[in-house]
Amino acid sequence: MYFEVLTNSLLQVNNVTKIAEIAHRYGAISIVDNTFVIPYLQQPLDQGADIVIHSATKYLAGHSEVNAGLVVVKGDELGKRVYFAQNRLGGVLAPNECDSVRRGIQTLALRMDRQQENACAISSYLLLHPLVKSVHYPGLPGHEYEIWALFRKLRMR
Ligand SMILES: *Cc1c(COP(=O)(O)O)cnc(C)c1O
Repeated sequence: MYFEVLTNSLLQVNNVTKIAEIAHRYGAISIVDNTFVIPYLQQPLDQGADIVIHSATKYLAGHSEVNAGLVVVKGDELGKRVYFAQNRLGGVLAPNECDSVRRGIQTLALRMDRQQENACAISSYLLLHPLVKSVHYPGLPGHEYEIWALFRKLRMR
C-alpha cells in the first residue's frame, strides 16, 4: 500500500500505524511518502511502515538547488531488494548534490520550526478572514488535528 502521511495538496492526515496494519493483514507492505512531514516530525518506520520515501528536493535540502530523493527501509531483506533495483537503474546522486542535502539537513530543525510558526500564524489569520471559505492546515484544531497531534513532536503556538 502506497500513501502519503500528509497528502499533497489538501494536507489530509493519514494514520501510518493503521494503514500499515491493514497492509500487513493482507500480506502486503506499506510504502509511505513522508515528504511533507519530514523525519524531524515523524519517522514512519517506527510506526510500522516498511518503506519510507522522501523528496529531498524540498524541505530536506531546503535551498532549491538540488533534485534528490531517498528511500529508507526496515530490515536487511528489503534493503537488499531496494539496493539491487537502485544498482540496476543507476539512480545515484553526485557528491555535490549529496553535500547540498547534507548541508540542508543541518538547518532542517530550525527551518521547520519557523515554517510551522509561520504556517500556523497565516492559517489562523485566514481562518478568521470573512472572504476565506476553508483552510487546509492540520495544525489547526479540527477533524485532522487530533491525528496530527498524535505524531507531532513540536508544540503549536
Ligand atoms: C514533490 C513531491 C514529490 C517529488 O519530489 P521531487 O524531488 O520534486 O521529484 C514526491 N512526493 C511528494 C509528496 C511531493 O510533494
